[in-house]
Amino acid sequence: MSLLPLILAKRDGRALDAAQIRGFVDGVAGGSLPDYQISAFLMAVFFRGMDREETVTLTRAVAESGAVLDWSDLAAPTVDKHSTGGVGDKLSLVVAPLTAVLGAAVPMLSGRGLGFTGGTLDKLEAIPGLRTRLDRGAFADQLASLGCAFVGQSEDLAPADRRLYALRDVTGTIESTPLIVSSILGKKLAAGPHSLVIDLKVGRGAFMPDLAAAEALGRALRDTAAAFDRRCSVIFTAMDAPLGRAVGNGPEVAEALDVLAGGGPTAVRDLSLELAAEMLRLAGRFPDRAAARDAATVALDDGRALARFREVAAAQGGRLGEAAAGWGLPEPAHRRAVTSTAAGHLPAPDAGRVGWLAVALGAGRRTAEDGVDPTAGIRFSRDWGERVAAGEELAVVEGADAACVERAAEGLARLLAPAPEPPAARPLVLARLDEDGFRPEPPGAP
Ligand code: URA
Repeated sequence: MSLLPLILAKRDGRALDAAQIRGFVDGVAGGSLPDYQISAFLMAVFFRGMDREETVTLTRAVAESGAVLDWSDLAAPTVDKHSTGGVGDKLSLVVAPLTAVLGAAVPMLSGRGLGFTGGTLDKLEAIPGLRTRLDRGAFADQLASLGCAFVGQSEDLAPADRRLYALRDVTGTIESTPLIVSSILGKKLAAGPHSLVIDLKVGRGAFMPDLAAAEALGRALRDTAAAFDRRCSVIFTAMDAPLGRAVGNGPEVAEALDVLAGGGPTAVRDLSLELAAEMLRLAGRFPDRAAARDAATVALDDGRALARFREVAAAQGGRLGEAAAGWGLPEPAHRRAVTSTAAGHLPAPDAGRVGWLAVALGAGRRTAEDGVDPTAGIRFSRDWGERVAAGEELAVVEGADAACVERAAEGLARLLAPAPEPPAARPLVLARLDEDGFRPEPPGAP
């Protein structure tokens, strides 16, 4: 097929029909279209948008560009959770086993870090021996026996998205509603869960800076999922400062395990319970969110969720240790404390800037070919807004490369200069979108 007529039509603001969109996606997945024409098409979509019908067709075509998994033989209802990307966001590691012990099955299709945001696959691979490439049979067996499996996007799941995403990343076309919707839902439809909770991050460490823009994206995601008969709710959560006290793959796994063991930072525990409760409600395991949250709280506190995570990790080859031995995670070769230069309140550091410091440390990639250092990261010693004295430890920077650790510690010290006043408190959950519509939180907020 020739892409030029489609580029011209979209450039001039005309809607495309289903055959044209399918032809485009087939050409992307099959390799017959050149990168420069796909990129021009993506830019035309970026500026002109797509209507609902075009978005649904594009999503279907992306999902069907490879294998589509079917879990209808499974006794448990399937549900997944997707985060649009944040810093310190280790929630998937907690909510997947937590939801699984309460009777839902979670075929968790995870990604790698992107830009300054972390990825669940990179975090899991900080656990010695853990494999995230499972063949179809092992994936299905583990889902049936443990209710949870963490896998990466294999070659044959939504292959069109892999190529489109890589081109969007380098052509300034990430922030387009129809492209985001078809990318997220195309993958999720291919992985087959019947319900989906989207954690839509909002703030300076997210690609949706404000709630109004996020609401439009959330509605498009929900409406498109409904066209495929999938139950979908969106929880809009704050991503201005990093979530919790750990950033970086190994440090985040340790923090997620602390939460699974009933401890850890309140923000991580609270959001994990929120997301798990919504997943369990959508999956039909509990009549309402409150009942689901109560059950999830018990499963976190009585050790069942941690035990399930251990079983899942072991099934995927991972070797975890005890909490007192740092959970068996690799030790960083270098550590450097960042201390307070004056008395004051610990500011809430910009999540995007902290994320880039973590990338520079080796926790993320600068090019697609880079490996990651599982030990690289930042552990904050105090909560945002807490009063600190001069000379007090505010954070510890860790990693395999001494010079990188030193540079990141200097950068972090600038972000953590104590302020005379604590930062304004912002709720973690900003709004919800479900079958009752869009509701800012707390109720009555603008
Ligand atoms: N996550 C995705 O998988 N795709 C996007 O386009 C944005 C976030």
